[in-house]
Amino acid sequence: ADAAPPLFQLLDAMHAGVKNPAKGDCVVYWMRLEDMRIKDNRALAQASAQAQKDGIPLVVLFVLSPQDYIAHDRSARRIDFTLRNLRCIKDDLDKLDIPLYTATHTPRKQIPSFVHDLLLQWNASHVFGNIEYEVDELRRDLALCQIAKKHGKIACTFVHDKCIVPPGDVRTKDGRGYTVYSPFLRAWAPILDKTSSRHLDEAPLPAANDHSVRKHATFGKLFNAQVPSEVEGFSLDPEERERISTFWHAGEAAAHEMLYRFLNTAARPSQFGAVDPLTKGAKEVDPTKQSRLGKYKDARDLMDADTTSRISPYLAAGVISARACVREALKASGKKKLDVSRDTGVGRWIQELAWRDFYTHIVALFPRVSMGAALPGEAWKDGRTGVPIVDAAMRQARTMGWMHNRARMIAAMYLVKDLMIDWRLGEKYFMETLIDGDLASNNGGWQWSASTGVDPAPYFRIFNPYTQSQKTDPEGEYIRHFVPELAKVRGKDIHQPPLHLADKLGYPEPLVNHNEARQRAIHRYKNIGTK
Ligand code: FAD
Repeated sequence: ADAAPPLFQLLDAMHAGVKNPAKGDCVVYWMRLEDMRIKDNRALAQASAQAQKDGIPLVVLFVLSPQDYIAHDRSARRIDFTLRNLRCIKDDLDKLDIPLYTATHTPRKQIPSFVHDLLLQWNASHVFGNIEYEVDELRRDLALCQIAKKHGKIACTFVHDKCIVPPGDVRTKDGRGYTVYSPFLRAWAPILDKTSSRHLDEAPLPAANDHSVRKHATFGKLFNAQVPSEVEGFSLDPEERERISTFWHAGEAAAHEMLYRFLNTAARPSQFGAVDPLTKGAKEVDPTKQSRLGKYKDARDLMDADTTSRISPYLAAGVISARACVREALKASGKKKLDVSRDTGVGRWIQELAWRDFYTHIVALFPRVSMGAALPGEAWKDGRTGVPIVDAAMRQARTMGWMHNRARMIAAMYLVKDLMIDWRLGEKYFMETLIDGDLASNNGGWQWSASTGVDPAPYFRIFNPYTQSQKTDPEGEYIRHFVPELAKVRGKDIHQPPLHLADKLGYPEPLVNHNEARQRAIHRYKNIGTK
């Protein structure tokens, strides 16, 4: 079934459209939902180099596509984050005399012809984009290449940018993609570690256009085109917009500040919703020992302190490149060579970035993994399962549009193993709620938890949410913060409040008995295995 080359390879190989187009009036960089930055952006850098070579202006296009967002269960938070980032990008490009034009287009199937028409209107000779590895997006880009080829005017170049090592480059001996993470990592790291490896190189910033572009009959007007304030069907009410944007500031500077905070400052207990990444009093500490990075190896699973990077919304939207994260982490920890060891903070962190690559490779090489969806249990969504750590996790998602990794694992495993609800229902809800919703990582995480798909947790590995709670939130601070009904519960009861106490506090009783649910899950999984 995997004999046909994956779609991304067709796109990669096509370098499509026309080979040597006649010089046009501009070169276009088509920016997408996953590459919202100017720094270290490969397609943008290549588009700029082409424009310089041809002596014509560079124009940046962004197409808002509400039908696509519905089809991909994008959260309104993510779309709002996109618009906020686009505004920052527009300002930054403006300083370089590069116009950003944001179009809104609804019939998703027609996007390739819509974009092609726009390119013809602008008399573009070349369009560049970073590859998006989901099936629909690959089909869209292939369709554009085909239209361009037929018309014979425009060259299309799509390049790898999202991953640290691109899909297709990490192969087993017999040329296949890996479906298990550990051997993937063992093959991934040496590729990156080769002295000749260009994978971590920073793509240059785009060059400024000639100032006269502002007077150009067509392109001059694009400078006045505003980024819309919302996308129909994806608006946030003002309170929610304000709250989410306080947690997640937009723009490349904010992303780099978030990274800096992780690399150079210490975690603080009870800091669940960092209002400002570098709140007053955050002092620089030794990145190799005391910083979040330095302590990551041991502290990463703690949910009661703010120990992880919180960079995922920025990585998912491409506000910062994964390459920059690796470069900066190695630099901060004084490493000259790549470190992916389990024994150091930086090594452990780079391993997490490798998980992101791994899941993206899976989606690119085995697109079947991403099929299917429906609706999860309401109590689970609302954070009212009666299991405090699960409820805290689900309410963190609703409040912040983000969850700690351990929280995601606990909540996901509870849905699929304790409640025996189809993992695709949870996958869809996370996509609709999280600001860092990323098809590959989300799908990978859910299939791991459900013991399905590639590299799953063994089916009999079922988290006990109460033990997890004691390990990851020993004092119960995380629970108290997100489940205020339990704020006054003291001692170990916070992890599993006695029924009479819960009842008095208006907290629900558990939907299922964990031990019974565990037996049921093991029994059912075993039967699937033998049938
Ligand atoms: P850190 O611990 O600081 O890690 C750094 C970066 O490494 C993360 O930002 C992320 O890009 C990457 N990373 C870390 N863990 C994983 C992982 N298990 N899989 C893939 N990449 C990882 N991550 C998303 O970005 N978007 C999602 O939609 C998403 N859905 C998930 C659903 C489930 C059920 C599970 C179990 C995990 C999911 N993850 C998702 C992965 C992980 O939970 C988040 O990336 C992480 O919690 C983000 O916090 P951080 O930036 O502080 O991570």
